[in-house]
Amino acid sequence: MRVLVFSDIHANLVALEAVLADAEGQYDAAWFLGDLVGYGPDPNECTKLVRSIPKLTAIIGNHDVAALNQIDINTFNVDAQRAIRWTQETLTAETAEYLESLPKAVDKLPFIVVHGSPRDPVWEYILDRYIAMQNFDHFHTPYCLVGHTHTPVIYQRIDKNIFEHPPNYTADVALDEGRYIINPGSVGQPRDSNPKAAYALLDTKTCVWTFKRVPYDIAETQRRMLKHDMPLRLVARLAYGW
Ligand code: ZN
Repeated sequence: MRVLVFSDIHANLVALEAVLADAEGQYDAAWFLGDLVGYGPDPNECTKLVRSIPKLTAIIGNHDVAALNQIDINTFNVDAQRAIRWTQETLTAETAEYLESLPKAVDKLPFIVVHGSPRDPVWEYILDRYIAMQNFDHFHTPYCLVGHTHTPVIYQRIDKNIFEHPPNYTADVALDEGRYIINPGSVGQPRDSNPKAAYALLDTKTCVWTFKRVPYDIAETQRRMLKHDMPLRLVARLAYGW
């Protein structure tokens, strides 16, 4: 089975549309790793579009939880809080109901799918090899897919050694030695100094992973954010990928 693996859309409809157009015809199922909303200008439209993808599996992210007003948002930075409040006011009942229905983790054996980490599915950021190493003890399948950091990366464990592989956009990756924690990067708010929307394709039969980047009309997303008076820092960062 060929799977579209994508994460952290953050209500950026223009980026999501670009990813789906780029990946069209190349996947039989889609796994979404959380954070459908938060930051961006089109939360309801993104939710509707994601729900229309055939054979979709989706999980909840920390911003989705925050948009549902289920937690104290003071743990988020000030700009994020403003965006979350706007999102809370903008979500339709239908969108909220859908987000509320999403699980925190899903088994797609031999893969497990979470937003943050296997140790703490919604909140923990796997930012480096050390955190990755600890997390390998919290799942027992060969593969774990994560989002949340908005940075594409592969962590590979062979025996007791952890290797960190940055994304390679010119060659597929064979997942054939040891165990893996893999992040496809973010559709709607990349943070690896590359502003192009990120996603990945996975062939579950051959266990081959392909990192992908696709340009989108960033200025259009920024225009929509400014129309809703969103924080300038959040608008600016999209052009730089941080
Ligand atoms: Zn996110």
